[in-house]
Amino acid sequence: MKRTIRDFDWHGKRALVRVDFNVPFERGTTRISDDVRIREAVPTIEHLRGQGAAVVLCTHLGRPDGKRVPAMELGPVVERLSELLGAPVGYVHDAPGDEAKTAAAALAPGEVLMLDNIRFWPGEEANDPDFAASLAALADAYVNDAFGTAHRAHASTEGVAHHLPAMAGLLMEKEITFLGGVLEDPARPLAALLGGAKVSDKLKVLGRLIGHADELFVGGGMAATFLKAQGHEIGASLLEEDLIDFCAETMERAAAASTPVTLPEDVVVAERIKPGVPTSVVGVGEVPADAMILDIGPRTAADYAQRLAAVGSVVWNGPMGVFEVPPFDEGTRTVADAIASGNVVSVIGGGSTAEAVAHLGLADRMSHVSTGGGASLEFLEGKELPGVAALDDV
Ligand code: ADP
Ligand code: MG
Repeated sequence: MKRTIRDFDWHGKRALVRVDFNVPFERGTTRISDDVRIREAVPTIEHLRGQGAAVVLCTHLGRPDGKRVPAMELGPVVERLSELLGAPVGYVHDAPGDEAKTAAAALAPGEVLMLDNIRFWPGEEANDPDFAASLAALADAYVNDAFGTAHRAHASTEGVAHHLPAMAGLLMEKEITFLGGVLEDPARPLAALLGGAKVSDKLKVLGRLIGHADELFVGGGMAATFLKAQGHEIGASLLEEDLIDFCAETMERAAAASTPVTLPEDVVVAERIKPGVPTSVVGVGEVPADAMILDIGPRTAADYAQRLAAVGSVVWNGPMGVFEVPPFDEGTRTVADAIASGNVVSVIGGGSTAEAVAHLGLADRMSHVSTGGGASLEFLEGKELPGVAALDDV
């Protein structure tokens, strides 16, 4: 168990809070196109302010690679946060230095200050101990609410935690509770639904889930290599030739571990990935040579949907088809609807699975949609995330 912000007396204290405000912008503008990452951190900030803490926030934005990039300054982010809090948010173009120190020291309880993009300083990604110490000097305690960056050992995600009482924010706590729940004490039966582009991204998570999950369902582009390993012709579908043997072995290991793996029985195919192209539904043994598998078929989708709605919990990583291009979003929609409607604990990996679920308007009906793509995958692989490991145990 990790210490959380509810286990600390914040009265009159200063908190240094690592958030993940790495938000997307409308191309070439300073307009934030999706502010969910900012909104997700508000409960933590409000909790701290409500308990009498002054709040110093720190985030990265983009990849400035250790130098100041004016287009990656945080003006629009500060403005949006201030709107959401209904309170002013101070902003210093500094993180480790005197300007930040002076501004942080001047904060009254409940006031909020944002440091500049932490990746403007090379000490951040290098996890430089002096840089971490200079961050720690800004506050009495450290809070990590940036789950999406927790798989990186940087100064603001890992190093700083060694200098101060270090605890999880409310968003971080929720991530650990739900993702940890999948690995430690899932409501059973536990089903794992894996899709997305490639098998190569899912090798380790497959390894972790076989023998742990009660059932495994495969869809998306990665299904093609599994089907090939079963002896089916897959036409022009995405194939990872070098992983055909791995897929065959995975099926054998799963059988030996009594974890049934279900592959698609029918698929949607087309010759090109474009909206409105002619598509057909074929059995997995009948994929034409010039066609690509771009979605699970309706029989498969209905079967997965029915079975997933009836389990105790589902962990889902990877869309069932090329959901960005209709009609190849149908399979993803059908299973997502069923999971959202069923009486199941639903844990949705971040990245494109979270995107797909949000795009379908179903995010609020899932038990948990992770804010971390790479981080949620590494967590489910069973890796210890440095940003989580560095927090105090209780
Ligand atoms: P994440 O972004 O979470 O890491 P992945 O990169 O593994 O997820 O998978 C997401 C991508 O997989 C989506 O962009 C989707 O279009 C693609 N995809 C899903 N099914 C197929 C398919 N049958 N063929 C090719 N690409 C697919
Ligand atoms: Mg990806």
